Amino acid sequence: QNTINQIAAGEVIERPAAVVKELIENAIDAKANAITVEIKEGGISFIRITDNGGGIARDDIKVAFLRHSTSKIRSALDLLHVSSLGFRGEALSSIAAIAQVELVTKTPGELTGIRYVIEGGVEKTMEEIGCPEGTTFLIRNLFYNTPARRKFLKSATTEASYIGDIIERIAVSHPNISFKFMSNNQVKLHTSGNGNLKDIVYNIYGREIASNVVEVNGSSENVDVYGYIGKPIISRGNRNYENYYINGRYVKSGIITKAIEEAYKSYTMSHRYPFTAIHLTIPGEFIDVNVHPTKMEIRFRNNDEVYGMVYHSIKDILAGKELIPAVT
Ligand code: ADP
Ligand code: MG
Repeated sequence: QNTINQIAAGEVIERPAAVVKELIENAIDAKANAITVEIKEGGISFIRITDNGGGIARDDIKVAFLRHSTSKIRSALDLLHVSSLGFRGEALSSIAAIAQVELVTKTPGELTGIRYVIEGGVEKTMEEIGCPEGTTFLIRNLFYNTPARRKFLKSATTEASYIGDIIERIAVSHPNISFKFMSNNQVKLHTSGNGNLKDIVYNIYGREIASNVVEVNGSSENVDVYGYIGKPIISRGNRNYENYYINGRYVKSGIITKAIEEAYKSYTMSHRYPFTAIHLTIPGEFIDVNVHPTKMEIRFRNNDEVYGMVYHSIKDILAGKELIPAVT
């Protein structure tokens, strides 16, 4: 109970991107392999997320919107063991408290689906409706009943870019799921979901990056490394493109960042940040989840092994390549 409370403490829906992240994670947990996100006005007035996952059974709908209601796990220690992304059971209740929510969902066994409307935590409608299998969440007018929170939002353009960043990272971390992202009716991202990480990199980042990456591969007793590293995008002099994923999660780790940058620097003689899309697989018992999960900052018990694997698998591959020109 305590771990749950600790984790619950800082947990708030701060902005539209948090809604999108939570609802995508739910769709992934529901085993969807196609997820579409549509937003208008940076998600402030309109977010619609459609998945083709298992749906929510009629009798589970009301319960799903209760605080601390989860059909998943269990304890914070399991965080990086479990395959499901959600575990706190507060996303739906939090979102429903501060927005107008419409849910349309159908499980494979049912003949008809359910449409459920809840606004500001107050249930409005529950009715049968014809719909495909899977789930659609429509979130309108975020913070409509908490204007003070709404004032902290940035411009629609900025909020939309936060959402785009999150979808990019989730799409890279799930190459087997097709993601489509539309903002104000324009397609911003569309991944094939064909499972090929390089194709996904191409879908998301485009030809210039995808044709300048090299594959990184390596494994030790407890650490598997797989992914791509390449030339940074000159116009972004920051770590925006330096992303890595542990056990399918986008995370931050000082150790991994340092290993990537040192290995890259030793090759290019430059201090620029590379493009990376690197997946690490590490057993949960080596990962310290003692920190707040929404900050995505994690630590390892086998620091040297993690550092060494990342550093050497990058350095070894770059040593044989001329794909990445030194930049000054
Ligand atoms: P958590 O994900 O931590 O369990 P949430 O508040 O995010 O909590 O969701 C509550 C419950 O609603 C989930 O445990 C799941 O059973 C159900 N649910 C939410 N979204 C979906 C979805 N897209 N497809 C199927 N079930 C869902
Ligand atoms: Mg969830």
